Amino acid sequence: MIPLERVRADFPILGRTVQGKPLIYLDSAATAQKPRQVLDALRAFYERSNANVHRSIHTLGEEATELLEAARDRVQRFIGAAEREEIVFTRGTTDAINLVAQTWGRRALGPGDEILLTEMEHHSNLVPWQLLAQETGATLRHIPVTDEGYLDLEVLDRLLTPRTRLVAVTHVSNVLGTINPVARLIARARRVGARVLVDGAQAVPHLPVDVRALGADFYVFSGHKMLGPTGIGVLYGRREVLEPLTPAWGGGEMIREVWLDRATWNDLPWRLEPGTPPIAGAVGLAAAIDYLEGVGLDAIRAHEVALTRLALERLGQVEELTCYGPRDAEAKGGVVAFNLAGVHPHDLAAALDLDGIAVRAGHHCAQPLMRRLGVVGTARASFYLYNTAAEVEALVVALLRAQDLLGLRPSGLSGPAGPRASRT
Ligand code: PMP
Repeated sequence: MIPLERVRADFPILGRTVQGKPLIYLDSAATAQKPRQVLDALRAFYERSNANVHRSIHTLGEEATELLEAARDRVQRFIGAAEREEIVFTRGTTDAINLVAQTWGRRALGPGDEILLTEMEHHSNLVPWQLLAQETGATLRHIPVTDEGYLDLEVLDRLLTPRTRLVAVTHVSNVLGTINPVARLIARARRVGARVLVDGAQAVPHLPVDVRALGADFYVFSGHKMLGPTGIGVLYGRREVLEPLTPAWGGGEMIREVWLDRATWNDLPWRLEPGTPPIAGAVGLAAAIDYLEGVGLDAIRAHEVALTRLALERLGQVEELTCYGPRDAEAKGGVVAFNLAGVHPHDLAAALDLDGIAVRAGHHCAQPLMRRLGVVGTARASFYLYNTAAEVEALVVALLRAQDLLGLRPSGLSGPAGPRASRT
């Protein structure tokens, strides 16, 4: 059980109002709010230890370096990586995927090779591979999504062949919430000799993840979705896969020796971290991991399953509302995408905002998935450890009100009550 009152008190932003109403923040899949402990760690770093890292002989430089490298150890333990050298700091998930494409991908792929993606990927896990395919002559293939919102693994044998060099798949869909069977996919990919990249942007913040148990070659995620600051992310890569990589970007830190016309490379992980790294970001990320582990990932997961189950049940009672993705709360992360018939999701989000409720609306950086669903976009409510059952109920009440406001009674709340109004 999550000590909800105590947890909520740790998040200063939850005390504010929006449009005169208490904020109900249901957009953590886009970015999570930050607890005081993370804000304090950032402030303490800037107030006491701020300096650039590595090669610095002075005290502050050494303190900053220690903090950065301690954050790397913290991440390593958190995701179960075998070695600290396997943790590369990036700017986020997008940056990490592009880094893999431009280092490993350029080296490993050629004409006729295949990259296997899925129809439910975020643009971050589609476009870098499209660019790479154009550059190398490789071909893209996609695992389809079933009507229920799962990956269609029946066709996997046909799609996964000895020509497949890479499988890149999201662990948890940012739209459907589907938790994909990545361990099974990795085992299957291994059999044909393909590498696997897992996009863990929606998984690491919400579920216990052990990269070694999964067997992933690459696993990527963002700090800002897991209570940490923006501008920091992680590329985990198995040492054996990272070791042969030459850098895609040059600059300070990533070199051993530089001449006017050439350079040699630093060891892992710094070889893949050109320039000044996100030092404060790493400090904040370590504090975020401390916070998540203090509450417990199992407790967070159980809390989100309960909220998602309630949301699916209550939203299912709203007339003319369609939910997308698995109906089983255990099979999905804390994400519920939905549409109200006849209402553009942007209008819906704007109406909910009037009630202080933040939901995301649009294509969620997953346009191919929107086409598969046959919609231009959806509204999306997403939950985290600080959300409550009362907030889910408030969402449903606000939706019914929005239905009146936008659909049945476009003139506003002053007209005669429509049939749904009596239910609010
Ligand atoms: N993949 C998934 C599944 C995501 O949900 C997101 C963020 N919406 C990303 C990748 C991209 O993350 P970032 O913008 O932090 O790089």
